[in-house]
Amino acid sequence: MTEKNGLVAGIEAGGTKFICAVADGEGAVLELARIATRTPEETFRDVRDFFAGASAAHGPVAGAGVASFGPLDLRPGSPNYGHLTTTPKPGWQGFDIGGAVRETLGAPVRIDTDVNCAARAEGMAGAARGLSHFAYMTVGTGIGVGVFSAGDSVRGAGHTEIGHMRVPRAAGDERFPGVCPYHGDCVEGLASGPAMAERWGSPAEELPDDHDGWRIEAFYIGTLCANLTFALRPERIILGGGVFQRASLYERVRTAYRAAAAGYALSEIEQDTESFLASPGLTQEPPGLVGALLLGKRAAESIRGG
Ligand code: ADP
Ligand code: ZN
Repeated sequence: MTEKNGLVAGIEAGGTKFICAVADGEGAVLELARIATRTPEETFRDVRDFFAGASAAHGPVAGAGVASFGPLDLRPGSPNYGHLTTTPKPGWQGFDIGGAVRETLGAPVRIDTDVNCAARAEGMAGAARGLSHFAYMTVGTGIGVGVFSAGDSVRGAGHTEIGHMRVPRAAGDERFPGVCPYHGDCVEGLASGPAMAERWGSPAEELPDDHDGWRIEAFYIGTLCANLTFALRPERIILGGGVFQRASLYERVRTAYRAAAAGYALSEIEQDTESFLASPGLTQEPPGLVGALLLGKRAAESIRGG
């Protein structure tokens, strides 16, 4: 079944690790490696070694997709397309990550943000299958939202930065300054995993279910979901990431969402919060890798005129 010339590469490029995979044309992973993120040079030396070994075993790669941390320049036609922009990560500012993958693999590359890739994967094979306009939110080390519409991620002057939006303070949380190095109390600054750990002195996974921190957390995420609804009218918002491993958070967020939206102009789709604010359909880790492989397939098809 496996056509040797149909192999695709996928990379989820994260701040702590790069997950590299080679898959067949059906998306079945043949080989996978986790590489610690260090300087670009050190990291890409290991990335090159992995793909050299995988190509020797399975054949050449026809296209690659990258699900990257950001921020990235994704403006079509930009001279810096595929470059990281203002990341505080030492050595990576301005780095041409898309170009580095193209050079390393000698194959066409498509790149998008990690959350846009997770959204792409959920749309193809997960909880957003059959929908054309939806969002994927991760609440983990950061808060990111990928918005998908008409078959592609929503981008324009840049990619979305919805986790850095501001929302009103939750009652009782007026004094916490927030942990975002840029904005302090944006949603990521108030409701990411590190924000919870900083506010309460222990990580989210250690807070009991009845801890007040979960009411505050749900308020911020539910309010952000209401804002997403008003701005973009997605048909579904998929909620994932490490903090959502706390299963009881879903119902709290649905309640907070209903309160924030206050019944204004909601369609039946948006009122059915169990289905509208859904858990991910895909359980493969990391969530962006499947989307990276889908992008890699599109990159391979683009040189065949597809
Ligand atoms: P990343 O965003 O780096 O990909 P994750 O999505 O795994 O990482 O999120 C990591 C965050 O999730 C950490 O801040 C951690 O405290 C939190 N976390 C991990 N497990 C749980 C859990 N069971 N309940 C609540 N929070 C959790
Ligand atoms: Zn911010």
